[in-house]
Amino acid sequence: MKVVTRFAPSPTGNLHIGTVRTALFSWLYARRHSGEFYLRIEDTDRQRSTPEASKLIIDSLDWLGLSHDGDLVYQSERTAIYRERARQLIEAGLAYHCTCSRERLDALRSEQMKQGLKPRYDHKCRELGLVPDQSTEYVIRFKNPLDGSVVVRDMVQGEVIYDNSQLDDLIIIRPDRTPTYNFSVVVDETDMGVTHVIRGDDHLNNTPRQINLFTAFGQNPPKFGHVPMVLSAEGRKLSKRDNVASVLEYRDMGYLPEAILNYLVRLGWSHGDKEIFSLDEMIELFDAEKIHRSPASLDPKKLIWINHQHMMELDAKDIRQRSRKIFDDLGVDIESSPVSVERVFEAQKSRSKTLCEFVERSRYFFVDEIEFDESSVQKHLTEKTRRPLQEFRSALTEISEWTQENIHTALVAVVETNGIKFGELAQPVRVALTGGTVSPGIDVTVELIGKSRTLARLDRALGLGE
Ligand code: GLU
Repeated sequence: MKVVTRFAPSPTGNLHIGTVRTALFSWLYARRHSGEFYLRIEDTDRQRSTPEASKLIIDSLDWLGLSHDGDLVYQSERTAIYRERARQLIEAGLAYHCTCSRERLDALRSEQMKQGLKPRYDHKCRELGLVPDQSTEYVIRFKNPLDGSVVVRDMVQGEVIYDNSQLDDLIIIRPDRTPTYNFSVVVDETDMGVTHVIRGDDHLNNTPRQINLFTAFGQNPPKFGHVPMVLSAEGRKLSKRDNVASVLEYRDMGYLPEAILNYLVRLGWSHGDKEIFSLDEMIELFDAEKIHRSPASLDPKKLIWINHQHMMELDAKDIRQRSRKIFDDLGVDIESSPVSVERVFEAQKSRSKTLCEFVERSRYFFVDEIEFDESSVQKHLTEKTRRPLQEFRSALTEISEWTQENIHTALVAVVETNGIKFGELAQPVRVALTGGTVSPGIDVTVELIGKSRTLARLDRALGLGE
């Protein structure tokens, strides 16, 4: 049997990191079993769904590389299908029109609450066989079985049993003829051939209702895996009100998509004590049965650590494309610069935890005018450092082949003739060339900045104190 999973977000806000984890688990499960992964936008709630939110979902999955198979499905385009399926259920005696007014239902509800009972529909219209005309307001309800129980054998939660007597006669079509969540989901899983539903455990209580609907349609329900919530760093439930960052904000902060996925896969799933996973390793090792049952909390420190590990693994030949936009936004044109961004990355990656950090710390390699940090200038460009700097400048003009090695030799020669420590020359040179005191090794920094820019910056530094 081919495995088919799906991700079925409602486009009502940001795609936050907790929801992305559910998408990732479904995606991994499909990829692991050489199956298909579908994307379905659950936009039947017209008031709360927006095209902007749908676009955010699509862009986020695209950025993360969680590609979907087949056509993207919008529930809003399938309204006629849901109505037809509801009609079929009515015809088969498994659903019915209900014309109970809001006032009646409200009164029923408060009476039940007064008696300490769980509010539920009292089946008034269940056996009436009503066929309302178009001017009458009605809903369509599912005839939930009256007795027996439903067993959910969940891949994550284990066996959960629900008594049918606790389940209501669910509304499947609303007065405005749109389907409710539980109904459209069942129709869609059937039509899309979904075999495994991996979703948030906030939907576990919906599952027995959905299983009853599958049965009514003569279908075997898919397998379910209900994944615990992701909690905030403070241990609170991540709700939309929490203003949780959209996953695209992580992109804008310079995180790598593969690092986000690695972080998320470890949030509530483990494989021994392995922390760093490539995408291929995740696909190979992911096992839904090992998803933890208890909720996991976000840990921003761990995310940045994982990102740094992936930064260090990043192929330098990808860095141009990955960082171009961030350089552009800073007004730094790497394309017309003679300095190789790939080599700068090799030199910088051990101290760059994010792409943004890499870009911000590498500006001076690519621009004509650097900015000086005042306190570094005062500390390192002094009367005492003038002479060694001058000597280093003239030693550089003698270098015929501009290599890291020859630059190093020139540095050492100046250090020795002046009887100073290496740092007493390296730091002034660093401030002169980068504006501050942090850069890769000074010889490689000098080499990458290039001869003419290095000489010009040394001249400028030597003039600073005048
Ligand atoms: N649309 C639902 C949600 O965003 C998900 C439903 C499901 O996965 O079954 O919560």
